Amino acid sequence: MQRNIEQFKKTTYDLLVIGGGINGAAIAHLAAKRGMKVALLEKGDFASGTSSKSTKLIHGGIRYLENFEVDLVYESLRERHIQLEVAPHLVKPLPFVIPVYEGDKRPLWMMQLGVFLYDLLAGKYRVKPRKNLTREEVMRLEPGIEQKGLKGGVLYYDAQMDDARLCLENVLMAAQYGAHVANYVKAVSFVKENGRVAGVRAHDMLGIKEFEVRAKRVICATGPWTNELLRLDIPHAKKKVRTTKGIHLVYKGEISKHAILIGSQSDRRIFFVIPWMGNSLIGTTDTDYVAGPDEVKVEQKDIDYLMRESKRVFPALDFSPTKILATFAGLRPLIRKGGSPRKVSRKHLFYSSKSGVIFVVGGKYTTYRKVAEDCMNRIHKIYEKEKFAVYGSGTISETVEAAARRSGLEKEGVQSLMDLYGTRYKDVLKLVEKDPSLKEKVSVQPIVIKAQLVYSVETEMARTAEDITDRRLSLIFRGPVSVPTLAAISAVLPKK
Ligand SMILES: Cc1cc2nc3c(=O)[nH]c(=O)nc-3n(C[C@H](O)[C@H](O)[C@H](O)COP(=O)(O)OP(=O)(O)OC[C@H]3O[C@@H](n4cnc5c(N)ncnc54)[C@H](O)[C@@H]3O)c2cc1C
Repeated sequence: MQRNIEQFKKTTYDLLVIGGGINGAAIAHLAAKRGMKVALLEKGDFASGTSSKSTKLIHGGIRYLENFEVDLVYESLRERHIQLEVAPHLVKPLPFVIPVYEGDKRPLWMMQLGVFLYDLLAGKYRVKPRKNLTREEVMRLEPGIEQKGLKGGVLYYDAQMDDARLCLENVLMAAQYGAHVANYVKAVSFVKENGRVAGVRAHDMLGIKEFEVRAKRVICATGPWTNELLRLDIPHAKKKVRTTKGIHLVYKGEISKHAILIGSQSDRRIFFVIPWMGNSLIGTTDTDYVAGPDEVKVEQKDIDYLMRESKRVFPALDFSPTKILATFAGLRPLIRKGGSPRKVSRKHLFYSSKSGVIFVVGGKYTTYRKVAEDCMNRIHKIYEKEKFAVYGSGTISETVEAAARRSGLEKEGVQSLMDLYGTRYKDVLKLVEKDPSLKEKVSVQPIVIKAQLVYSVETEMARTAEDITDRRLSLIFRGPVSVPTLAAISAVLPKK
């Protein structure tokens, strides 16, 4: 995937997509696949907005049942099935335990009924059967859990994903189908002819150049930035998106074997403690946010809330600041409506302005393929059945042992390539075949070889160290990135 700014100046596109989060990436992917000439511009790195700040669940969203959003849950459960099938390297089944305590806002019968309905809605797309748990069974499954006041629980299954890489794999698919894509290019204004949108003025954030990109249609898939883009189109437009902030903590070590759904006792929110890359992801919060999306940050009160509520369920654990490896904050781009943040729907809709710009509003990560399909069906419908795939989709036919023998890498190294890149592990091995010095490890836990850094830059368009540590290799979730690893990363980055 080449970052070639010149090509944007020479082409008139059928479709220009602004925003390289999951929705923009998938829309560009499907549009290019349907034969359109597509451009995709992202002002930061792909997935650097909300699409790398999620709880990393591909899920029906059990809690939306409480808001009677049965259609949303039904749709999401079908999308969960599709993603488990097409991206098994990035989307994996995950068991959840819901422990219920005396004093919880939702009693045991309610949780059991909720999970029963959840599985019923999933029908044949259920991941695995649920199970109601006695108090003793909960304690056996999760020995570290608070026993005082424990009434029982439920075991059910959903899916976990690598959000940044799933987004990237959609961008790579768009490029494979011929789309011109670039990160670090910001759309700064709309170009209009006779009141109709005809493209954008864009700013190359790396080359500090402004240029024009012309297109017959423009779609803004700018998530929390949608209101800003809307006002570039219509200066006094009413906001369409309500942003609510959610933060996560990366806790050192695996707190539990299952994902634990915790009902907060201080409000009616639920949050998760989830095993994630050898550590634990704790989140999320859900609070209204009105400042600019670029300024969103984790605040101490968000951390205190998650630590306090987690400590209640895992009393023996040390929740001191030294146990926090990383924190991150993201904004949900929700359809603008009043009421409590947790009650606002996660559905999506499209808004077409007078000048013809289409704005994508709302949605959740899980439904991204459906968002893209619905969007494309408005502008370039096809009638044959469309098979969906991401960049690393497909079955790996070679055994780990055979791939290790042929490449001279250790089995563990090959396994981690297969886990990260799916069938595209072969592309990384090709680099090693061409230049055996790229076998060298730049990190031991997790195993990272030099070839992956080259691949991040040459194929996956990484431009900064953060693009690699945070979104290509997800090193930030494993613990502090060592100085030698950072030096190796810096050595492969394009010189400014
Ligand atoms: C805390 C939290 C937890 C969540 N957990 C889950 C979950 O577990 N499962 C789930 O299904 N959903 C989850 N969601 C929701 C999901 O993450 C979002 O719905 C989804 O990521 C939104 O994707 P997007 O592409 O619309 O927005 P984004 O990912 O924010 O992408 C928009 C992009 O537009 C770019 N952009 C903005 N302005 C411009 C411009 N002028 N020019 C060029 N580019 C521009 C931005 O840089 C950004 O990358 C969660 C959300 C949050 C906040």
